[in-house]
Amino acid sequence: MTDSDDEGSSTGEPDYHLTEDFGSTGEAGEEDDSGTRSASARTASTDAEIDREGGEHGESTESTPVLYELQDGCTVDDVEEGEVYRGTVNATVEYGAFVSLNSSVSGLVHESSITEPMEVGEDVKVRVSDVKADGDVELVPVYMHDYDVETVESTVEVASPEIEDLGEHEGSRVAVEGRVKKIRQTSGPTLFTLEDTTGTVEAAAFEAAGVRAYPEVTEGDVVEVTGEVEPHDGDLQIEARSLVVLEGDDAAAFEERVDEALLERAEPPELQPLVDSTVLQELYPELREVAQAIRRAVHEERPIVVRHHADADGIGGGVAVERAVLELVDDVNDDPDAGYHLFNRMPSKAPFYEMEDLTRDLTGALRDHERHGHPLPLLLLIDNGSTEEDIPAYEIADAYDIPVYVVDHHSPDEAVEEHVEAHVNPYRVGGDYAVTSGMICTELARLVNPDVEDEIRHVPAVCGNADRSEADAMEDYLELALREGYSSDDVEAISKALDYESFHLKYNDGRHLVDHILDVVDNTAHVDLVDRLSTQADEAFERQKSAAVPAVERKELDNGVLFCRFDVENHTQKFTFPGPGKTTGAVHDEIVEEQDRAVVTVGYGPDFCVVRGHGVEIDIPEIISELQVEVKGAAVDGGGHLVVGTVKFVQGLRERVLEAFESKVEEAPLKK
Ligand code: MN
Repeated sequence: MTDSDDEGSSTGEPDYHLTEDFGSTGEAGEEDDSGTRSASARTASTDAEIDREGGEHGESTESTPVLYELQDGCTVDDVEEGEVYRGTVNATVEYGAFVSLNSSVSGLVHESSITEPMEVGEDVKVRVSDVKADGDVELVPVYMHDYDVETVESTVEVASPEIEDLGEHEGSRVAVEGRVKKIRQTSGPTLFTLEDTTGTVEAAAFEAAGVRAYPEVTEGDVVEVTGEVEPHDGDLQIEARSLVVLEGDDAAAFEERVDEALLERAEPPELQPLVDSTVLQELYPELREVAQAIRRAVHEERPIVVRHHADADGIGGGVAVERAVLELVDDVNDDPDAGYHLFNRMPSKAPFYEMEDLTRDLTGALRDHERHGHPLPLLLLIDNGSTEEDIPAYEIADAYDIPVYVVDHHSPDEAVEEHVEAHVNPYRVGGDYAVTSGMICTELARLVNPDVEDEIRHVPAVCGNADRSEADAMEDYLELALREGYSSDDVEAISKALDYESFHLKYNDGRHLVDHILDVVDNTAHVDLVDRLSTQADEAFERQKSAAVPAVERKELDNGVLFCRFDVENHTQKFTFPGPGKTTGAVHDEIVEEQDRAVVTVGYGPDFCVVRGHGVEIDIPEIISELQVEVKGAAVDGGGHLVVGTVKFVQGLRERVLEAFESKVEEAPLKK
């Protein structure tokens, strides 16, 4: 409504000359004039009452006049001519005063009907003398002393759609419940970003230019906003007429709906593993739980931090999950950058989640929490996380209630259980390392987001190749990769390229570059990249082996094992690919190939040794726990799989540990 409209329309209206006074004085004298008018108006309003909710409005008795209070949410359609309302003067002008009856309905008191000065902010009682067809309201001040107060609630049918359905209500009034995600003051209205379980929408509330509307509302409040749905900058906006903070049961009901909707959305799809494998079948229920937690985190915008072993199996598993999460984030989140702050994948240089990694992840998370209000993250460990060495980091994560999920195929320690939400590990269901982390995580990625299956179907074969899997599942996964157009040479080259590049990535995630090597996104570099990286890797292996092999000391053990040891620190190039672990593996493979018999190879450094076994039934984690007891003062530690592992010890007792280890191998039976 504009000022000139008000002035024009009000000119010559006879009602403005009436200043009415009800109540204590001169009742008899007023009867003919105001009393009659009032009675007839009441009759009219009683008729109109039929379609009013609650039937309160207008149910006044003849003897006591009623002062109506128009609630927020009511519109001009809820106002009745002839009735008296409580109002507040919000502006005085030359030709009268504007009085608001609630946050959205106001009218003009023409100066001709003002007998006592009206001041801005003053509470007044006004009779509605006219409601024009265009919605302009004309008011007359009323002075009454004895009256009943009644509240008018909105009778206009207002739909309460979810945010995603607002498009169906364009141009009409809605009442939307949502959580206030963000409040922004413009030079005009205040903008409230609301979210419910289906989406977000902006509600614009105008108090005065640049003035904060509804200052009592804060971010995080659950509110009901009533207003018109209008297009704005190519989007829909609610032009708020009222914004009320919900409390108690109303707020609790909203939270409950949010929670239920989240659980439903987080439910993973009904799938079966890509290959027929008992171990994967057994792991599937717990894997679904991990998938559900990840999906839930995406939907509630909780950041996800993935830490994976810095080798091809770990990277493959991490990237499969990354593809699934990033595409899900894209589907769910409007912010095109959301994938960068809601998902973080990092390699762990150590084969466990060391305190250094945890400290880095935690300080980053706490910073984002303080600065941007992000919830603390969900932590997912891939291809590490199953052993006692992870526990110190878990204890700190626990102090912040950061949920930890583990997918690993290293021999697990039971002590880990109490620190993690889920622990997916083939050893826990009767399998072993041959079902690798990358295989399990590819299955996990499908459960998080089945849309990425086409991109990652060949990933398990690459991971299995890298970890030398001999599982039945490996053949099936290889078959899948073949069907996707990757020969077994291709699979081998990709796994080699990935291992080689991961050495140079050091502490970087290598997002995009790693995607190109693994060929999980469209790219033109893949073939050349893998060819060059794998060739360089081969050359690097040859260089290290040519130095190491001549240094190997070979010894026949009584049980028929060929025990080979060499100083991997002094007979290879330091800080060069391949490192001690892979170099020892390569030397071992060469000996096995040439000898075709039971072989154990030990590449030792000052305070560690890398062990590889073939044709003999050793259990490295088991041997480590025995050495911890038997070689006192050596601080023996380490881990690995049955025949692939690392033993750590104090430098001063290296020879004693190596000799004790050799005796353990000598006691072990040969494989049939
Ligand atoms: Mn692995």
